Amino acid sequence: MIRGSCLCGVVTYEIHGQLQSMTHCHCSMCRKIHGTPFATYIGVKGVHWLTGQNNISRYESSKNFHRCFCDQCGSVLPEESEDATDCFFVPAGGLIDPIQIRPQSHIFASSAASWYHIADDLPRHNGYSADDDSGIDQASRAGAHVNAVGGSCLCGEVAYRYRGEPNFMMYCHCTRCRQVKSAAHASNVFVDPEKFEWVKGEQQVVRYKLPAAERFGNSFCKTCGSSMPRVLPTMVVIPAGALDDDPGIEPRGHIYTASKAEWFDIADEYPQFAEGPPA
Ligand SMILES: [Zn+2]
Ligand SMILES: [Zn+2]
Ligand SMILES: [Zn+2]
Repeated sequence: MIRGSCLCGVVTYEIHGQLQSMTHCHCSMCRKIHGTPFATYIGVKGVHWLTGQNNISRYESSKNFHRCFCDQCGSVLPEESEDATDCFFVPAGGLIDPIQIRPQSHIFASSAASWYHIADDLPRHNGYSADDDSGIDQASRAGAHVNAVGGSCLCGEVAYRYRGEPNFMMYCHCTRCRQVKSAAHASNVFVDPEKFEWVKGEQQVVRYKLPAAERFGNSFCKTCGSSMPRVLPTMVVIPAGALDDDPGIEPRGHIYTASKAEWFDIADEYPQFAEGPPA
């Protein structure tokens, strides 16, 4: 039995049956919900909620298809479909037991974020499979840096932006980031607080602070669960996957790779740090 959990531990679940498929999805909905450049989903026969059923929030992102998240900590949970198919899609980052399956392809690759380049050799599809392919044409990077970079949630109730240069971008593989984003790793842009502003819906943002941690937390939209910026006294941490504009910078590297998901291979050339970034 393979179990999964949200970061705060209120919602737990287990997977029934075979793991049927595993794909990296680059669609804009996954990017906003997870706040990451891609989400990694496993197709399974069934998911059994073990605890915390009353704390699961659902957002209908497509007809009869619900994105689920913990209303306490915002962790992305397995998706539910009301269709007759008994297939569930489970975000791999939330699983706590080892799995015997590896990612097989990139799907919706033509929707990939302009700033993210897919570096591995897995097959890339425009839709769900090779049937949808007619040449991948990923959005190209805007050359000039726009003067404000905006982001928003999937339901559209919350929007924000920052002006000027961000400080840096980083990919984080720590266990907490993986669990709360339910993804291979977090991808954050760090900006100074005075450069950041909420455009609308700030009151919709739920802020969760992990009790055991000095600083670690998560912010998310109350309605759709999309990953949201965290405004801290000295910096704002913005989930890059939820941005609507190209942030115009490259990641400085991968941090906490000692905690990396065993199913994820880092294929790009960015520097890797086993723990936190060097001072
Ligand atoms: Zn939770
Ligand atoms: Zn997707
Ligand atoms: Zn929302």
